[in-house]
Amino acid sequence: MRAVVLDEAGQPALADIPEPDGAGAVFRVLACGLCGSDLEKIGVAPAGTVLGHEVAAELDGRRVALVHHLPCGECERCLNGHESTCDSFRAATIVPGGFAERARAVETLPLPDGIDDATASYAEPLACVLRAAERLPQGRVLVVGNGFVGRLFGAVLGRRGDDVFAVDLDPRRGGRPPDGPVDAAVLCAPGGATEAAEALEPAGTLLVFAPSSPLDLDAVYRRELTVIGSRSATPRHMREAIALLPELELPEPTVLPLERFHEGLDLYRSGDALKVVFTP
Ligand SMILES: [Zn+2]
Ligand SMILES: [Zn+2]
Repeated sequence: MRAVVLDEAGQPALADIPEPDGAGAVFRVLACGLCGSDLEKIGVAPAGTVLGHEVAAELDGRRVALVHHLPCGECERCLNGHESTCDSFRAATIVPGGFAERARAVETLPLPDGIDDATASYAEPLACVLRAAERLPQGRVLVVGNGFVGRLFGAVLGRRGDDVFAVDLDPRRGGRPPDGPVDAAVLCAPGGATEAAEALEPAGTLLVFAPSSPLDLDAVYRRELTVIGSRSATPRHMREAIALLPELELPEPTVLPLERFHEGLDLYRSGDALKVVFTP
């Protein structure tokens, strides 16, 4: 089957690879979103890696979202709500990955009619945002980095009644800048940690949702800030995301075939596309 595979230099290239084997059923991939965390693995992950974890797929005419990671649900970290740090969580449950014609998965969730395949691939990133938002205090919230993930936060927080502001280094992406100190800030882009902390009221909360720059801990001490991290999603949040998808107003994706993977990569890296989704 065709798949985008990392070569010896860690660079993606379209290749013919064997059908996936291992546990779970084989699904036909309908759409797979490109995520910032995929970009982090380019040039780093071993040869043969197939990226992609935001997958809408189909088997026997039934559309499903593939579940990317599975927590054990029983260990102390899982029970305390830190499922993404569970020892079982790391193992990939989508094999070989979503940028392929077919993929195996051990856990799936049914998709409703009425959302197209590309939008259905938003279930995974939206689930990550829903999980993070649970830990964010309500009120005036600043989103730092107003790309696709920032827009997901804007939609989710706005829906629950927060007063949402957004800033971005890219002037094309600027949102509504804050008109005063905020109760919480969400870091959705690398860098910006100091600026985000400075925007907070004393005793405010900083949620780190992306690889981040150093933060001045003296400010944490003197202003009694709370810093929390959130990464990835659980099957419960995937289920909630799928139910919520038809109700949210979200950015349109740029949809490209796998053959145009490099073009999609360039569009995403340059910021010309907010979200790129590939179809096999
Ligand atoms: Zn992702
Ligand atoms: Zn666990």
